Amino acid sequence: MEYKVSNVKPAVQIHTCRNCKHTFTGKICNHCGEKLFNEKQLTAKHFFHQVIDFFWHWENKVLKTIKLNFFKPGFVTKENINGIRVPYANPVQLYLVVSLVFYLVVTKVGVSDYTPSFGDHHYYGLSGYAAFKWARPLDEKVVNAIDSAWTRKGRIMQREIQDELSSNLQADGSFKLTGRNNTDSFYIPGNKTNVYAFRQMMGARWTLFHSTVGTYGKTLIFLLLPVIAALLLLLFFKKLKYYGAALIFSTHFMVYNLCFFMLHALINVAPRYISENLGGWMLKPFLYVFYNDWISPVTNFIFGSEFEFMHFLFWMPWLFVAIKRLFNTPWWKNLLISFFLSKVFYFLIYGVLKKIVIAVTIWSMH
Ligand SMILES: [Zn+2]
Repeated sequence: MEYKVSNVKPAVQIHTCRNCKHTFTGKICNHCGEKLFNEKQLTAKHFFHQVIDFFWHWENKVLKTIKLNFFKPGFVTKENINGIRVPYANPVQLYLVVSLVFYLVVTKVGVSDYTPSFGDHHYYGLSGYAAFKWARPLDEKVVNAIDSAWTRKGRIMQREIQDELSSNLQADGSFKLTGRNNTDSFYIPGNKTNVYAFRQMMGARWTLFHSTVGTYGKTLIFLLLPVIAALLLLLFFKKLKYYGAALIFSTHFMVYNLCFFMLHALINVAPRYISENLGGWMLKPFLYVFYNDWISPVTNFIFGSEFEFMHFLFWMPWLFVAIKRLFNTPWWKNLLISFFLSKVFYFLIYGVLKKIVIAVTIWSMH
């Protein structure tokens, strides 16, 4: 049998990549990922099409991933760990987008759970938990360190105010205070300047702290990611194998948490602007069931305060389903682990992160 060579078309067309000179078939270079070039790609139409495409697909991908991560706990994590990544936004992208929106929403609604007030560092010590009573000296050390940083900052500010005063020393030994535009003025006797400076400092320090703390409160949450990941790796060492895999899981959990927190702020907390009684309406039935006079000694023992219990409601169901989906552990083990993780997460946010945020804020105040 004879073939007419001219009649035989190559089954597949072979291209040479313009970027890396690798030869390939199909539409994308399998060595560097460069797309097959076509002169039509130089048209304005193609250019604008690409711009729209980018935002459209990217937004779709992110929204789809957020929704899946919220309603199917552990699903996106499982896909990611199994190497199916193209259909979903990657964890870092996801985290950045969600935390940005979180920042906006939380500021608008005025929910301050993640933005501590000065003084919050006196609460939620590790020694508050029965098993960690021995950690009391450590807790006190932390509290004292923050308190004395606060005092030191106050002294510095007071001195600055006093220095500023001394530039207005009058001939009779008093000091002149002048309002803006020189419209108001007042004379303080020389021996009263420290009282004046102290009072000024007290107000100024407080204002400065609260104008700074919000930024840190909302942005330092990412510090919890590696800690949660380490904990997950310890618990599921055989199944996760890599710290990176644990980081993916912890990032997805945090993305869920931020999404939930936003929804909670909008649906559960924001109605308080309509009426004071409406704030927290969603939790009332739960508190009625779990924190009534008969059962509250038990629930208090297991979950702690009503506020802590609320967080178990937020986190446990998601963790329970996610762990089931990812590791297929028996339900009772799952229940214990999701309980334990929620407890630790709560402590990390209120007992550790808040203190870090307060300390960093004081340190950065100028
Ligand atoms: Zn190439």
